[in-house]
Amino acid sequence: MKFNQLKTPCYVIDEKKLKQNLTILNNLEKETDCHVLLAQKAFSYYPSYPLISTYISGTTASGLYEARLGYEEMKTKVLHTENHVFCPGYKEEEMKELDEICDHLVFNSLTQYEKLHGYCKHASVGLRINPECSTQDGHEIYDPCAPFSRLGIRMDEFDKAFGGKLPKDVEGLHFHTLCEQNSDDLERTLFAVEEKFQEYLKQIKWINFGGGHHITRDKYDLALLRKCILYMQEKYGLTVYLEPGEAVALNAGYFVTEVVDIVKNGKDILILDGSAACHMPDVLEMPYRPPLRDSGKPSEKRYEYRLASSTCLAGDVIGDYSFDYEIHIGDKMVFEDMAIYSMVKNNTFNGMPLPDIVYMDENGDCHVQKEFGYSDFKERLG
Ligand SMILES: *Cc1c(COP(=O)(O)O)cnc(C)c1O
Repeated sequence: MKFNQLKTPCYVIDEKKLKQNLTILNNLEKETDCHVLLAQKAFSYYPSYPLISTYISGTTASGLYEARLGYEEMKTKVLHTENHVFCPGYKEEEMKELDEICDHLVFNSLTQYEKLHGYCKHASVGLRINPECSTQDGHEIYDPCAPFSRLGIRMDEFDKAFGGKLPKDVEGLHFHTLCEQNSDDLERTLFAVEEKFQEYLKQIKWINFGGGHHITRDKYDLALLRKCILYMQEKYGLTVYLEPGEAVALNAGYFVTEVVDIVKNGKDILILDGSAACHMPDVLEMPYRPPLRDSGKPSEKRYEYRLASSTCLAGDVIGDYSFDYEIHIGDKMVFEDMAIYSMVKNNTFNGMPLPDIVYMDENGDCHVQKEFGYSDFKERLG
């Protein structure tokens, strides 16, 4: 099937772009000996895990279900891949399975560590630290170093508990403080980690730099990232892990919708069969204006429209865009960069259909992988 024949709404995964990103990450692994893991919370299209595993070292998970997915769809299928997990709130009943299926298990707090570390017979134990070094401005919901953050152990708690000497079973430290950032912010964070946790860095085997590294975007400073990795390897003899989500599938997918109606109220408002609230929640949460194919900023081009959805939420508005040509009912609207934080976050609010999932191979041929219907809406609710 060709792209322009697709039934809407649907997500399209672009194999060619995915491979381009993976090649960059693979080169990074080869050049530095670091290990790159897919953060499944951004992108969990598991039919592509075997492909992904030929470029990077494995998967990481935010809890039991993602850990199970990474285990089933990558680790058991491809030898030598790794499966990691970090969760702020492990439950005792999950621990035995997590230990069996995960290679690294990272605790978020001292109470979680003390209560549950005894379950870790197979998994290498790590602790998440909070380096208290905010490098993001604007998006506090994505800043784990913001005041009152629940994510990671602060230096004063760490010192009080350990007094300079880590327990024997703690083999690694983990921090995750970035979001869509360049390597200069990683460098600043590393200096904060080093300043606060230096004596502990000498006692561990591995360090995990978390996600939020926008490695595969234009103008990302790869040389500085390599320098940061090599610094921690050489100075402390550590194995370095990175666990990007976004960077793996950045710009490697689309969300295709159709114009169902055009309402006029001061502006021409396109009613789409896709929704920000249901199908691209980050547009409202972050918030941001998603890139739209063949469009310009408001009033940049001749025909201007507001793009909105067919839910009853007044604020389910995607944004204002302009085009060189007039838009008609039945036209398609293609949102770009929609492989990440889209499929994994969608919902059926308002009884909206879940978009189908389509895989576009390197020749541009589209294969419908997964179709959703009424039962996917109904079966979750009763
Ligand atoms: C979200 C998250 C990631 C991935 O972040 P991206 O911004 O998608 O790269 C990695 N590790 C942890 C602990 C996370 O919470």
